[in-house]
Amino acid sequence: GGGSFDAKYHTKVTVLGSAAVGKTCLVRQLCFKKYQETYKVTLGADFGACLAHLDGTVCHVQIWDTAGHERFNSMGPAFYRGSQACILVYDVTSPKSFEDLREWKESFEEQADIAEDEDFPFIVVGNKCDLPKEDQLVPEAKAARWARENGCAAHFLCSAKEMTNVHAMLLDVVRLVLKRLKARE
Ligand code: GDP
Ligand code: MG
Repeated sequence: GGGSFDAKYHTKVTVLGSAAVGKTCLVRQLCFKKYQETYKVTLGADFGACLAHLDGTVCHVQIWDTAGHERFNSMGPAFYRGSQACILVYDVTSPKSFEDLREWKESFEEQADIAEDEDFPFIVVGNKCDLPKEDQLVPEAKAARWARENGCAAHFLCSAKEMTNVHAMLLDVVRLVLKRLKARE
């Protein structure tokens, strides 16, 4: 079966980023294998779950998606509580959404109370990499450098639309989380 009871490990992952970068599409692809072409604002905190299989270990991943009109610090504490990784999403065609990552990361650090936690897993995702190269206004090298210099574990270019790199990204998130969980066992 595919129930959460099959999993030895459970984790909560929070997805942050400005409006329309494709957070909800990423989460729906991972959890429900669906892609939504028409834009719908997510109302209320939204979450999905999926099972990730990594080197013979099954991990049940609960993925929390931002609610409604994305504003910094607008989500309540329950949204952040217990998160074991944070996926920071920007749109490769929107430099503004990339610049916003700094504030999303800072607000997560404040709200999730992880100031003392130096290797907390942050993963940076440049979504919509299916769009034409000439429209991709955020250089990959610049984003990768920002991720490195700001203590993020990895940077991925993904397409929720075409499912490019989406599973690979999640597996990396789970790998980072499991490494920390197993170190504490
Ligand atoms: P959110 O506000 O961050 O949750 O963004 P959504 O997931 O609702 O997506 C916003 C818009 O971007 C929608 O019209 C999606 O169809 C579109 N979108 C999401 N992911 C992709 C992608 O990978 N490629 C392209 N071309 N469009 C995408
Ligand atoms: Mg959304």
